[in-house]
Amino acid sequence: MTQPDAATPAGSTGAARPQQGAGGVELLAGRSAEVGGLTLQRLLPQRGRRSIGAWCFADHAGPVALGADAAGMQVPPHPHIGLQTFTWMICGEVLHRDSLGHRQVIRPGELNLMTAGRGIAHAEQSVAGSGALHAAQLWIALPAAQRAVEPRFDHHAELPRWREAGVECTLLAGECGGLRAPTRVYSPLLALELRSPGGGRIRLPADRGFEYGAMLLEGRVEVQGTPLTGRQLACLGAARDRIELQLEAGARVLLLGGEPLGEQLLMWWNFVGREREEITEARRQWEAGSPRFGEVPGFGGHRLPAPPLPWRV
Ligand code: MN
Repeated sequence: MTQPDAATPAGSTGAARPQQGAGGVELLAGRSAEVGGLTLQRLLPQRGRRSIGAWCFADHAGPVALGADAAGMQVPPHPHIGLQTFTWMICGEVLHRDSLGHRQVIRPGELNLMTAGRGIAHAEQSVAGSGALHAAQLWIALPAAQRAVEPRFDHHAELPRWREAGVECTLLAGECGGLRAPTRVYSPLLALELRSPGGGRIRLPADRGFEYGAMLLEGRVEVQGTPLTGRQLACLGAARDRIELQLEAGARVLLLGGEPLGEQLLMWWNFVGREREEITEARRQWEAGSPRFGEVPGFGGHRLPAPPLPWRV
C-alpha cells in the first residue's frame, strides 16, 4: 500500500525536534501522508532518523472503518526497486497483485513480504465489504550487494507466536527467545508485534548490535518508562541488553530492530538506491513500460505515473 509522496528524498519531513524520554528513548513525531485514498501516519523516514537497521520506511494505516460502499485503499500498479515491502495486517483485507502473477488476499494476522530487488510492480486494493482497515506497511532496504536480487513475493499466514507475562508475541522477522521467523530478509533484523488483551509488562532480550524503534498500533504503551502516542516513533540506540515495554489492556505495539545500515540510501518515490543514475534509469523504464517491471494483471485501471525527478538529468 505504500505510495510515498514525491517528497521522500533525504528527509523532507517537517518533524519537530526530538523529545527525550526516560531510559534513553527518543520520541520522533511522525506526519500525515495520503496513500491510495487514505490518510495515514508516516513514522519513517524522518529528518533526524533515516532508518532503524534496514527499516527505511514505516507507515501506520488506520484503524479506519469503511462503509459498505467505500473504496477503502486503492493503490494502482506502481514499481519498486532495491527494497522489500512488508505488510502486516491487523484488521480488514487487502488484495495484492504483482507483475510476477501473484494474487493474494492478506487477512488479519498475516504478513506479505514482497522483495522488489531489481524490479517489480504491484497494486493493492481493499477487498470490497471488508469493513475496516488497520495495517502497518514498512520497507526494508536491501543491502547494496543484494539490491538487484530476483524479485519475489512471499505470504506468511503462520508465524511464531507465544504468550509471556500477559503479552501475546508474534515474531514477524528475525529471531527472539530462540525462535526464528520464516521471513526471508537480507540483513540482521527484528520485527515483533506485542499485544496485550488484559495488560502486561514484558522485558525482551536486546541484541547489543541492534538499534530499535517502537511503533504504537493500538492503545497505550510505555517503552522504557516513556509513554508513546500513535503519532510518534520511539527510538532506542544500540548497546542495550534488554527492552522493557508496559502495555495497558488492549494495547498493541510493533518493535523494530536491526544492525545500523552503514550505507547512505537514496530514496525517491518507490525506489531505494544509492546513486541518482539508478533511480533516474528505473523511472525512465517504468515510464517506458519496460519489461523490467512488467504488467500487473487484472487491475483494470490506470497505472501510477512517476512524478518528475527532483534533479536535472
Ligand atoms: Mn508499493
